[in-house]
Amino acid sequence: MSIERERVEADVLIVGAGPAGLGCALHLANLIERHKQANKSPSLSTENIYVLEKARELGAHQLSGAIMDPRALRELVPDFEKTAPLDTPVTGDAAYFLTEKGTHKLPITPPPLRNHGNYVVSLNKLVKWLGELVEKKGVNVFTQFAGRELVYEENGIAGVLTEDKGIDKNGKPKDNFTPGYELRAKVTVLAEGPRGSLTKEAVNRLKLDGLNPQVYGIGIKELWDVQPGRIDTGYVAHTLGWPLHSDVYGGGWVYGMSNNRVSLGMVVGLEYHNPLFDPHEAFQRFKTHPFVRKILEGGKLVRYGAKTVPYGGWYAMPRSYMDGGLIIGDSASLLNSQRLKGIHTAIKSGMLAAETIYEALCAGDISAKALAAYPKKIEQSWLKKELWAVRNFHQAFHDGIWKGLFLAGIQFVTGGRGLTDPMRAEAGYKEYSKLNRDGTLIDQSTRFKGDGKLTFDRLTDVYHSGTRHEEDQPCHLHVLDPSICVDRCVREYGNPCQYFCPAAVYEMTAEKSGPKLKINFANCVHCKTCDIADPYQIINWVPPEGGGGPNYEGM
Ligand code: SF4
Repeated sequence: MSIERERVEADVLIVGAGPAGLGCALHLANLIERHKQANKSPSLSTENIYVLEKARELGAHQLSGAIMDPRALRELVPDFEKTAPLDTPVTGDAAYFLTEKGTHKLPITPPPLRNHGNYVVSLNKLVKWLGELVEKKGVNVFTQFAGRELVYEENGIAGVLTEDKGIDKNGKPKDNFTPGYELRAKVTVLAEGPRGSLTKEAVNRLKLDGLNPQVYGIGIKELWDVQPGRIDTGYVAHTLGWPLHSDVYGGGWVYGMSNNRVSLGMVVGLEYHNPLFDPHEAFQRFKTHPFVRKILEGGKLVRYGAKTVPYGGWYAMPRSYMDGGLIIGDSASLLNSQRLKGIHTAIKSGMLAAETIYEALCAGDISAKALAAYPKKIEQSWLKKELWAVRNFHQAFHDGIWKGLFLAGIQFVTGGRGLTDPMRAEAGYKEYSKLNRDGTLIDQSTRFKGDGKLTFDRLTDVYHSGTRHEEDQPCHLHVLDPSICVDRCVREYGNPCQYFCPAAVYEMTAEKSGPKLKINFANCVHCKTCDIADPYQIINWVPPEGGGGPNYEGM
C-alpha cells in the first residue's frame, strides 16, 4: 500500500524523551535562548526542536534503579534541588553477600557502591519534570509517537518516519487509520535508551560498531509499600550472591524511599549459560531471603517493571556521529556499569550533543565531519574520565564472580587498565549451552507461580506494570523465521524466550499440527530482552502503535 505522508521539517529531531533526549533538548534550548538574546545569526528557534516519545505520556516508559548522581543535572539545571522531584538523599549504604539463609555485610562498602551525595529518585517523575522544563522553552514534545523507520541520506540520516496509526492485526487500515509523518531534520539524535530499534538499524547499516559487541543485563524491579520502620528512608543496600550462582553476573538492591516505599530489584547479565534460567524467577526468590523478606512482609506490591541495561561500556561504544545524526545516552553505551548508573552520563551526553548541534547549526554544517565534535567533547569531559576508568570492568566477570572481583581489583588500582587492555567481549546470546533435547516442549505447568503475597507469577507482575496495547494491531515482535523456534530451538535450547521474557509474552503451545509459538504481545513491557537474548537473533522488536507499553508511574 503506498501511503502519502505529511512531511514536516525541523532543525533538530530527538528520538526518545529519556534523560539523554530531554537533557539534549533543554541544553540546546538554553543555548538558542542565549543566541537570540545576543542577536546572533543565523536565526534559530526552540520551536524547531522536536522530541518524539513512544509512551502515552512523558516518563511512562522510564525505569531505573534509580540512584542518581546529580553531577550532570547540576550542570543542566543549577538550582535543580528547588524544584526537581527528588525522593530522598541517600542517608546510608551497605553491601551484603547473601547465601541461601545467611546475610554477610561487607566490612566496607566498595567505593563504586557508595552513594553519599546521591539521590534516590523516581526516574518516571524526574523525566516528567525535565519534560515540563523543555516544553516551557517552546520545544515541541510529541508523546505517543514512535520513530518507526529512519530516513537515510547518503552516509547518514535525515529524520524518521513515525508509525502509521490505526492498522488492524492483519495489516489492513481501520476506520481511524492515520498515516505516520515524515519528520525531516538537519540533525536527528537517537536517544532511544538501550537497544534502540532505530539505533540498532543505523549501527548495522552504517557500520558504526564499537570494538566490542554491546552486552546487556536485564533489570527487574518492584515498588512496595511496606510497614513503617522496616527500612530507613534513604538507606541503600546492594547484594551479591544468592539466589544467583557464581557464574551468573548480577546482584540485587533494596532502597528505602520516602513514605515507607521501597524500591527493590535485581540486575542479571544476559550472558548466562543455562538457556532455561529465568531472571524473573530469580528475582522472586531473592525476595524470600530473610534479609529482604523481613522488610517486605506485611507490605504490598505497588508497581513492577523490567528494562535492559547496556553493560558494554567504553569499548562497546558505537561510532556516535554520522552525517545528520548523533547517538546519545544508553543507546551510545554511556552507562557506568561498575556503578550501575546511567542517568548522569545520559544527561551529560545529551548536553554535549546539544553543544555540538548548536555549533553545527551556527556553522551551517551538519556533516559527519562537523558532528565529530561530539565524541571529542566526550573525550574532553568528565564523562570520558569516569567511563575510561571502568572500561574493562564488565568484561572481567566473563568467567564468574570470583575471578571478576580479582580482576576488577587490579583494574581499580591501575586506573581501569587491569591485566589486559582492551578486554574483548562476546555478544551474550552466544554464551548459551546447548541442551540437545528431543523435540518435545518443556512442561510449563510446573513453573514458578509465587505465593501471591511476597512472590508473584509473571502475569501478576505484568498487571502491576500498567502495560497496555491496542490488541487489534500488527504484532510488534517480529520473529523472522518461526520455523527455527519449532524445528531447532525446541531441541537445542528449549525455547529460552519463555524464560528470559519477564512479561510472559512468548508461549510454546502444542497444536495438532505440532508445536507453535504464540506471542502475547499486549503483555510486552518494552524491555528489549528478546531482541538481545534470542540465541538465533531472529526476534526483531519494533515499536508498536504509539502510546502502547507500560506505565511506570512512580518507578
Ligand atoms: Fe521484553 Fe521482549 Fe518480553 Fe517485550 S516481548 S517484555 S521486549 S522480552
